Amino acid sequence: MEKYQKYGINPLLISVANGQDVVSLSPRPTVAMLPGKYSKLVYKHIKTVNAEFPENSFRLTCRQCDKSGDYDLGTVVFSTDATEHRKGVNKFQALGYFRCKHCNAAGEWELSPRIQTMLAAKMAAATISSLNGTDRPDGVIFGEAIIDRVFLPRWGSDAESYFLKKLNETPDNAYFWNRLGNTYYRGKRPELAVFAYEQALIKDVGQVESHYSIGKILIECGELEKASDHLRQAVEFSHQYKYMTAYDLREIIVGALEILLTIYKQSDNKINMLPKPNEQAIVQLTKNQIAATAMLDFEIEYNSRETLYPLAEVYLGERRNELLPEERAIRKQNNKAVWPLASKVNKQKPAKKNKNRRKR
Ligand SMILES: [Zn+2]
Repeated sequence: MEKYQKYGINPLLISVANGQDVVSLSPRPTVAMLPGKYSKLVYKHIKTVNAEFPENSFRLTCRQCDKSGDYDLGTVVFSTDATEHRKGVNKFQALGYFRCKHCNAAGEWELSPRIQTMLAAKMAAATISSLNGTDRPDGVIFGEAIIDRVFLPRWGSDAESYFLKKLNETPDNAYFWNRLGNTYYRGKRPELAVFAYEQALIKDVGQVESHYSIGKILIECGELEKASDHLRQAVEFSHQYKYMTAYDLREIIVGALEILLTIYKQSDNKINMLPKPNEQAIVQLTKNQIAATAMLDFEIEYNSRETLYPLAEVYLGERRNELLPEERAIRKQNNKAVWPLASKVNKQKPAKKNKNRRKR
């Protein structure tokens, strides 16, 4: 087996990304063949990145080539109405992304009676523990994994097919690339996830969720500088990002700022925490807002997520207005926003224009 070929990759992924005819591509691509910056790097740290996910290895037989192998199903989702019937074990979804080690096919698997029993036991243990209120066994969730409210993927590779089909029709849709990335990430294939996120950013440099996710993955790989670069961009572009509610967006910004603050400290204050005020994406912020962002980092209490909310709301821009007044960290007085640390900002040397005004 070639280097970088331990886990299967769908040739269609490369074809959709670069428009090459799939028949001209290797039927078994390697990570080195992915036209992106980060896949090889992330592949080297795949175990660390995947540490948050459970391992659920089972022996499955490929219906295409009849050969068996051990595959990591990742998180297993049992349908809630299946809990009543033991035979309902067939009603499960596996979020792990894997392909046949022998023929690189995906999605058609034979489960031996023994594996079915093992899965049933896992489900029973999970049911009992949720009844007792004790911790559920790792990697089991009750419910349904639904995409776009209509599609229930049986395997991680079904979710991939869903998004590749959409992307085949609209290859420039950055949002779909991002969601394909999420599918790979949950499928324990972060090297493919970063590739999809990178594609999202090629199509739309303001794809906030992709910047954020790449940043989080690169942190796990020890790439502080590269990670902070993406996290800062997630913050920077957030005010123009349309695919999330203002509340969720604020959480993303706070999350990014939290990590950026840690990086800032770890790098002995060498790696910038905040986007530079002259970055293209934030030039539309008002002077007061930029001043607030420039000063605020001195007032942040370490280890206190709460103190990051006012700063996050500065970066939300106009979308801040979508937050209910009582749920905002930045308060308004007489219809004017009271910027955090306004007093401190005012203590700065006033701009020339202000100076003249003062003299009068
Ligand atoms: Zn096979």
